[in-house]
Amino acid sequence: MKMMAQRQQIVDYGLKLIRSGLTTGSGGNLSILCREQNLIAIGPSGIDYDEVGVEDVVIIDRSGHKVEGCWSPSSELSFHLALYDQRPDVSAVVHTHSVYATTMACLHWEIPAVHYLVAFAGKKVPLAPYATFGSPELADAVADSIGEHNALLLANHGLVAVGAEMRSAFNVAEEIELVARIYYQARSVGQPVLVDDAEMERVMEKFKSYGQQDDQ
Ligand code: 13P
Ligand code: ZN
Repeated sequence: MKMMAQRQQIVDYGLKLIRSGLTTGSGGNLSILCREQNLIAIGPSGIDYDEVGVEDVVIIDRSGHKVEGCWSPSSELSFHLALYDQRPDVSAVVHTHSVYATTMACLHWEIPAVHYLVAFAGKKVPLAPYATFGSPELADAVADSIGEHNALLLANHGLVAVGAEMRSAFNVAEEIELVARIYYQARSVGQPVLVDDAEMERVMEKFKSYGQQDDQ
């Protein structure tokens, strides 16, 4: 089987998605692009995460043709492909229906800089207009709306997070759900004070060297 390491990550992070409460059942989906092989590992459509094994992951080429696998790939394959085409810095995509981010998406609100952690996505989390799940229109809306951000709300649907690897894309999804929850709660009792633009730029710069660096 091709892409064993990436298949295993799709399985492991699918379980993490469920265990961390970021999605339910078979909602949402995950993919990883191997840029050397130009192949994508993506979860199968409509199968609960706790039933997916490495053999169930589907391998797809950059034009969307199946290379390996007996199941249909995620119905959102076209927006995963569109993101990889659009963003050379992205090699993993996480899509969730996490409750607070999706609440914002159902209000057609963006998430502003209510907390500095929004920097995981950028200065804000933008919103893509509504389109039917799995449609080419949704793929176009995603590609047109994400810009340089690492997360995007999908109107009346959910969240997309991207990263250079699965671990960082998953972290974005997790942190943005926290920020969405904070925003929801703050708006429930008052008008939150936003972090200003210059400070968000400082935070985003500081994030580049946050944590343990490779040369340490
Ligand atoms: P799949 O099971 O086809 O990946 O679809 C889940 C989903 O979230 C559609 O938007
Ligand atoms: Zn979805």
